[in-house]
Amino acid sequence: MSTSTLAAPAAGLREGAFGNATGLVCRECRATQPLGPFYACQECFGPLEIGYDFPAVTREQIEAGPKNIWRYQPLLPVPADIASSPNMEPGFTRLLKAHNLGRELGLKNLWVKDDSGNPTHSFKDRVVAIALSAARELDMKVFACPSTGNLANAVAAAGARAGMKTVVFIPHDLEIPKVVASAIYTNSLVAVRGNYDDVNRLASEIAGEEDGWAFVNVNVRPYYAEGSKTLGFEVAEQLGWRLPQQVVIPVASGSQLTKVDKGFQELVSLGLVEDTPYKIFGAQAHGCSPVSAAFKDGHDVVRPVKPDTIAKSLAIGNPADGPYVLDVARRTGGAIEDVTDEEVRDGIQLLARTEGIFAETAGGVTIATLKKLVETGQLDPEAETVVFNTGDGLKTLDAVADRVGPAATIDPSYTAFTAIGLV
Ligand SMILES: *Cc1c(COP(=O)(O)O)cnc(C)c1O
Ligand SMILES: [Zn+2]
Repeated sequence: MSTSTLAAPAAGLREGAFGNATGLVCRECRATQPLGPFYACQECFGPLEIGYDFPAVTREQIEAGPKNIWRYQPLLPVPADIASSPNMEPGFTRLLKAHNLGRELGLKNLWVKDDSGNPTHSFKDRVVAIALSAARELDMKVFACPSTGNLANAVAAAGARAGMKTVVFIPHDLEIPKVVASAIYTNSLVAVRGNYDDVNRLASEIAGEEDGWAFVNVNVRPYYAEGSKTLGFEVAEQLGWRLPQQVVIPVASGSQLTKVDKGFQELVSLGLVEDTPYKIFGAQAHGCSPVSAAFKDGHDVVRPVKPDTIAKSLAIGNPADGPYVLDVARRTGGAIEDVTDEEVRDGIQLLARTEGIFAETAGGVTIATLKKLVETGQLDPEAETVVFNTGDGLKTLDAVADRVGPAATIDPSYTAFTAIGLV
């Protein structure tokens, strides 16, 4: 993990701009290069991730920090004074014991990590906060992203708060609430006639042509991706500094899942938690399940698909981290499963009725996958299990709008009320 043998960071960076990060490491050939606005290995074009030289970090030190992701600053590529620059301060969302859902599914010890409580109501605020810090430290001028929706919300809001020029690109057919909840922060929302993979290709092209554009999930992706580690850190801390035995995580590009694993490993390497075994499970919608298909076929490569699902926030047909998701699931003894759109709707309703949590379609995918993993014997019902809800149901109302509604519409009289049989 240590890359302290690296040369000094690229010219023009201030001392400590990236905290304890020491360089960029290729995830394929492990070649290293200095910190900078780079995302592909100079040797093999493999994707880069952040390497660190961690100092000793104690639980007490972390617990004394702010109640947001900056409490983990020593473990992130951000400067020690990060909490003093304008940012969205996401994280430290609730971890709820899910007694009712556990009973319903036959799971003895189930928790929901509810990331809908972030500033723009999805887990994306975590990754965007780190990308914003990197864009600032690298002196980039435009804060941008291609998005399936939630990322556009998070980038537009964080860019507004930071006073940066912000441009976000979305597929033209997104859910209206996600369009409005981006456009409210910026007048540079661009709808592209194409699906997410088309939008992503366009973003890469612009990033190559224009100087100083920070596309959070393209050219500053190594920094962005580290934000997902904080989900793993929080789960461990909130369980009383312990790793759960099983985790179920939604998969779009697959970055979140692989970085929760990286976060768990870093906690172990720093002695902050005991080295206990855990299994990581991935959840996809059947209409966009390239990683699940590869897992089931025993393949190492992920064959791209054309997405067709109501779970638009997970609709990435060519997932950048797909092969690494397969590695993590196989190494930890987990699995990747997928569920139909009808099961996604059922999952949203199940979580709402049992735990009072309204998830967006991505959460429906994850809850439905949890259920399927139990029913097919892939999850151990006795083991401590954490399932992620990564977004808010108010953004995807259409998914369930035709399934729920008033039990009756009545005149304002007591007799009319008694007539409908609720008493
Ligand atoms: C983006 C997103 C994910 C998955 O993120 P990846 O890191 O790309 O796999 C999960 N849930 C929601 C709600 C999202 O918006
Ligand atoms: Zn390489």
